[in-house]
Amino acid sequence: MSEVLTPDICVVGGGSGGLVVAAGAAQLGLQVVLLERDRMGGDCLNFGCVPSKALIAAAKAAQAQRDGAAFGIAPVEPKVDFARVMDHVTQVIAAIEPNDSVERFEGLGVRVLKEEARFVSPDELQAGPHRIRPRRVVLATGSRPTAPPIPGLAEAKYLTNETVFANRTLPAHLVIIGGGPIGLEMAQAHRRLGARVTVLEAAKMLSKDDPELVAIVLRRLEGEGVALRQGVKIARVEGATAILEGGERIEGSHLLVAAGRAPNIEDLALDKAGVAFTKRGITVDASLRTSNRRVWAIGDCNGLYAFTHMAGQQASLFIRQLFWLPAKLDHDAVPWATFTDPELAQVGLSEAAARERHGDAVKLLRWKLHDNDRAQAERATEGMVKAVVGPRGRILGAAIVGPHAGDLIQPWCLAIAKRLKISTMASHVPPYPTLGEASKRAASSYFTETLFSPRVRWLVRLLSRF
Ligand SMILES: Cc1cc2nc3c(=O)[nH]c(=O)nc-3n(C[C@H](O)[C@H](O)[C@H](O)COP(=O)(O)OP(=O)(O)OC[C@H]3O[C@@H](n4cnc5c(N)ncnc54)[C@H](O)[C@@H]3O)c2cc1C
Repeated sequence: MSEVLTPDICVVGGGSGGLVVAAGAAQLGLQVVLLERDRMGGDCLNFGCVPSKALIAAAKAAQAQRDGAAFGIAPVEPKVDFARVMDHVTQVIAAIEPNDSVERFEGLGVRVLKEEARFVSPDELQAGPHRIRPRRVVLATGSRPTAPPIPGLAEAKYLTNETVFANRTLPAHLVIIGGGPIGLEMAQAHRRLGARVTVLEAAKMLSKDDPELVAIVLRRLEGEGVALRQGVKIARVEGATAILEGGERIEGSHLLVAAGRAPNIEDLALDKAGVAFTKRGITVDASLRTSNRRVWAIGDCNGLYAFTHMAGQQASLFIRQLFWLPAKLDHDAVPWATFTDPELAQVGLSEAAARERHGDAVKLLRWKLHDNDRAQAERATEGMVKAVVGPRGRILGAAIVGPHAGDLIQPWCLAIAKRLKISTMASHVPPYPTLGEASKRAASSYFTETLFSPRVRWLVRLLSRF
């Protein structure tokens, strides 16, 4: 029977963004209806961040068995039970699931409906038998994998992030189309677990990251036996085999497509609500409001970023607006990480973007992990910290490649978000011996030339007489 609901807020999509809005708003005492058509937790929990990081962790354990020689431990080829590895992935999802469950959200006072939502007018939605007339709507419908228009691909039985974590057979040869973060994380993980892996990329691998640091990641992957092919054109696909222009056949046992994402917007009937969109996503202003004043769009569905932390950040920006506080997305302090080994992390402006804005006023600071004692102790010296500094010592960006780069980037995230100067980063005291010292050393190098200049040396000699 049709029921009319009139909540303060209707959230469409129970993933990374939608759940933060629903929990925040309900805890503020507002009436919230949350609509989720599939699995609570969205992509991140079920088909994205969580399973991929769990698979990567298993692959790291396998690789550690191969990498013992430098420590005096005889290397062995690990015996991998791929089906049990996938059980581990499922268990990790199950361990986190309660945080995102219907029960938890109902406990917070959210009315959760397992239904697909679509607009029927600018201020009404239909979700199964329910008609919803909310004061505000937050769209958080996420994105899905897309496939490039390669002849034969549509007919091929290929894997995507939505199916690869359900695969329980180790691929003999995994061919991956797409050399972005997802493609390369999956490539290294499968290689370490014993598969032969080839990655085919039409342009450049990890093209959104700093090429100087990307080169270090790619070198490691190739060193571990991942075949990386950049700038290749696939003429057609037959089963799991890619046939390149020129005729070369890359015979695969499994094919994984990780070559782009599309926003989940088609089923929302946005035109009925007067919500503007392009094929990249729902159009929003700086406060994430759409062309319909009652409707906001956050997370992957607005096409701005495709990261869980940005979906969460955008959810917080919406919550701020409930207090009538100013809320504007800061595009200059966006971090991201690729969880290959070594990890690759970036925040703020890249070297190229900084040079475009500030020209020659940009100064680059680098510190290699080779010169870090902890990295030496752990035999993990491949990597570096690179900071981009602008006029008057303002930190504009930083990138790190190395173990735990996704964690090591965090002080730089804070520095950039709070518009700190490089002198602050240079003067903090990290514990010894830690990889984090590399960030301080990179920052301190900003002052090396000035500090040890002939003029300063003369001054110090003079002062020492008194
Ligand atoms: C393999 C992979 C690895 C990733 N790794 C990382 C990582 O390490 N770090 C990181 O930050 N990001 C990572 N991401 C990206 C991250 O998963 C997404 O950015 C994040 O999940 C986006 O959150 P969201 O709330 O926008 O969408 P989602 O979390 O996907 O949630 C959207 C929800 O909306 C539901 N929905 C859609 N339409 C409707 C409708 N009409 N009615 C009702 N419900 C609807 C969907 O079923 C879904 O549950 C990864 C992605 C992939 C694919």
